[in-house]
This record gives sequence, structure tokens and C-alpha cells, in this order.
Amino acid sequence: MRVQCAIAGGGPAGMMLGWLLARAGVSVVVLEKHADFLRDFRGDTIHPSTLEVLDELGVLDAFLAHPHREIRHITGRIGRETLTLGDFSHLPTRCKFVALMPQWDFLNFVASEARAHATFHLLMQTEVTGLRESDGRVAGVVATTAGGTMEIDADLVVGADGRHSAVRARAGLIVEDLAAPIDVLWLRISRNPADPEGLVGNLGAGIVLVMIDRGDYWQCAFVIPKGGIDDVHARGLAAFRDRIRALVPFLGDRVDELRDWTEIKLLTVVVDRLRTWHKPGLLCIGDAAHAMSPVGGVGINLAIQDAVATANILAGPLAAGRVSEDDLARVQRRRELPTRVIQRVQLAIHDRFLRTALDRRGEVTVPLAMRLLQWFPMLRRIPARLVGVGVRPEHVRVPRADVGRRAG
Ligand SMILES: Cc1cc2nc3c(=O)[nH]c(=O)nc-3n(C[C@H](O)[C@H](O)[C@H](O)COP(=O)(O)OP(=O)(O)OC[C@H]3O[C@@H](n4cnc5c(N)ncnc54)[C@H](O)[C@@H]3O)c2cc1C
Repeated sequence: MRVQCAIAGGGPAGMMLGWLLARAGVSVVVLEKHADFLRDFRGDTIHPSTLEVLDELGVLDAFLAHPHREIRHITGRIGRETLTLGDFSHLPTRCKFVALMPQWDFLNFVASEARAHATFHLLMQTEVTGLRESDGRVAGVVATTAGGTMEIDADLVVGADGRHSAVRARAGLIVEDLAAPIDVLWLRISRNPADPEGLVGNLGAGIVLVMIDRGDYWQCAFVIPKGGIDDVHARGLAAFRDRIRALVPFLGDRVDELRDWTEIKLLTVVVDRLRTWHKPGLLCIGDAAHAMSPVGGVGINLAIQDAVATANILAGPLAAGRVSEDDLARVQRRRELPTRVIQRVQLAIHDRFLRTALDRRGEVTVPLAMRLLQWFPMLRRIPARLVGVGVRPEHVRVPRADVGRRAG
């Protein structure tokens, strides 16, 4: 197979980039190692800036016709107090809310839009295992499929294969580990219609639980200190359930649905970034270039913004068959500042807030910064802006190619 761009990884970064490049007439293949998008271990947040991109692509109404929930405020429960921490209603975007939708629905939507373009190809169950090199530059990928090994030649390879990126490892790019002090236990508890809606963050003495409303169940992230899983296991499942029940009383007996540790998955949190995101013929974006903490639920936003910037900068050179290292460096220059700013905020929240909260044994008090947000509601626009739009929002600048609509 020969394409202008081969993308490893069909997550938010890879799928959006594939769609945008195909829309611009570039021949592109996205290789995704799983058979479908039905994985659990992803965030479900579609941010106002992503909705803005969908609007620019002319598909916002079609997207919002899919079942979703709209979150207009960031709320948190600390001890017995419920606090409003962010207010999206003043954002400079058409949608002044975060849409909560299972990520597999979002990725299926992107896939169906992308497939309308004749130059778009998506290969599922195809795992990138190596890079092809020629004349000192990356010239394609080697992938494993159910039927054996395949080789793909490409003018550009993009690593969008997430925080354990095989592409960046094979390329030998240098990773700076920023040391996340937390891990997450990922579990489900059923949801009653009378429960609150949307995203619910809960903080008590030594416990942090974030709950994502997925309609008939809560997808929960139970935050633990890094490496603390053995301690959680040693205390026993009954004690684990009791801690959740005490923190979120409205869950009541439904906590007993957690009958076995196999229903509680450990997700290791990584925060890192590449020193250089590229080498000749290769670029990394999304978590492959900068793994994000779940704090703030912004990693998907950043991944999609990377994809938009990459398409804006590279669609022209790709179409002309001339992608220079300087073009690739422009992508990093464009996206490095937003990444650094958000990672710095995430690390500050890890260190000054989450770590302290997890170490705490007595009554939890509301930190001064959160108290200020209650006293001066205008200040709530700042966290809403960081989460909803981020730094340096991207807009779709690549024109749509007139040719190449796939029939049917
Ligand atoms: C517990 C947890 C909860 C989170 N919650 C949120 C949230 O609510 N909101 C938010 O915005 N962010 C959240 N994040 C962060 C977010 O998940 C990531 O920042 C985001 O998914 C990055 O998107 P991506 O496309 O770069 O990578 P990914 O989403 O990781 O996608 C990479 C894709 O590449 C595929 N792949 C991997 N290796 C290969 C290979 N060798 N060949 C082919 N395919 C491959 C994977 O199967 C995957 O589909 C969370 C992170 C964690 C750990």
C-alpha cells in the first residue's frame, strides 16, 4: 500500500487528522490495533473548542443529534459542600457547554464522516509494529494484521498511538517524564434517574472520586497515590466499597455491585512529553507527543487541537509531495505552548491539591482558590476557559477538496 500519510492510532488525534487530510484530498490511512472503538478507558468529554471545529466542518447539528448530555458548569463536592468551579456560559464559542458522549460514539461519527472521502482508509485490527526507513528518513510503517504482516509506504508517518506509543519508541524520540503522583481505578456503578446528572467530582478525607454520567451507569475514576494499588487490595473490597458509600451516600447499596477486583481496572496515569516531536518523515501528536493526566479532562481536546493544527500546516506540503522537517517543526512550535501550559496546571493540581487530599485523614476543607470561585463568580470563567477551549485554539483552515467524495 502507498499513501501520502500513514497514521498510527485511531484515537481522537489520529481519526480527526485522517478526516481533515482526506477532506483536503490527501491520501491517508489510519491504522488502529483494536477491532472497534468500544473501549472503556477513555474520557467522554467533547469540549466547546472541538464542537467549534465540528461547526467549522459543517457537521455540528448532525453530531449533536446523537445522544449526549450538556455540561454547563464544573461542579465538585468537597466534604458536605457542593461548589461551582467553572462556568462555560461566557465562552467565545457557539456551544457554551461540554458535550458528554461515550468516546466510541464520537469516533464512530468521525469515521463515518471521514469515510465519505475517497482518499480516506481505515484499517482496524492493524497494529503498527515497526517503521520503514529509506535514505535517512522514515518512509512508511510495518503493521501486523489478522492475515499477517503488511508494509505501507508513506511520505509522512504520524504517531497518534497514545501514551504508550510504539511509533515514538521505534523512532527513538526522547521522552521527558514529568512524574504523575497518581493512578486511577476505573469502575462502573449503575445510575438511577434520580441521581445528579453530568460530571460529579467528589472529594473527602483521603479519597477522590470522579463520576462520569453514561446514562444508565456511572463511569467512576477512583484516584489513588501512584503505586498504591497493593495497599487498596490489602484493605479489602468491603473497605473499598465502604469508602465510596461514605463519600457518595446517594449511591447507597448500588456500591455492592462491585463484587470482584476484576471489575475494578487499574489505569496508570502518565504525564510526559517528547523533547522533539518529529524526525525526517515522522511526526507525533496527541498523547504520543505529550501524555496527559485525566485532571481537568482536557487530553482529548488537546489531541484534537493538535490534529487540526497538523492538517492546517501539512495538508499543502503533503498534497505537493514535499514535507520538510521545517514543516514538521512548525507543528511542534504551534502546539508546544498549549501543551506546556496545560501540563503545568495539571502538575500543580496533582501536587498542591490531589496529593494533599489523598494524604488527608481528618475533615476536608475547601482550598482558598475554590472559595474565591464561590465569592467571585466571574472568576469561574478562568477554569471554564482552560478546560473548554484551552490555550491557542485552532480553527479549520484547510479548504475542502472538490473531488473525491465516495459514493453512497
Ligand atoms: C483514566 C483516564 C481518564 C481520562 N479522562 C479524560 C477525559 O474525561 N477527558 C479528556 O479530555 N481526556 C481524558 N483523559 C486523557 C485522554 O484519554 C487522552 O489525552 C486522549 O485520549 C489522547 O488522545 P490520542 O488520540 O492522542 O490517544 P488515544 O486516545 O490513546 O488513542 C490512541 C489510539 O491508538 C491505538 N494504538 C495504540 N498503539 C497502536 C499501534 N501500535 N498500532 C495501531 N494503533 C495503536 C489505541 O488503540 C488507541 O485507539 C483520560 C486519561 C486517563 C488515563
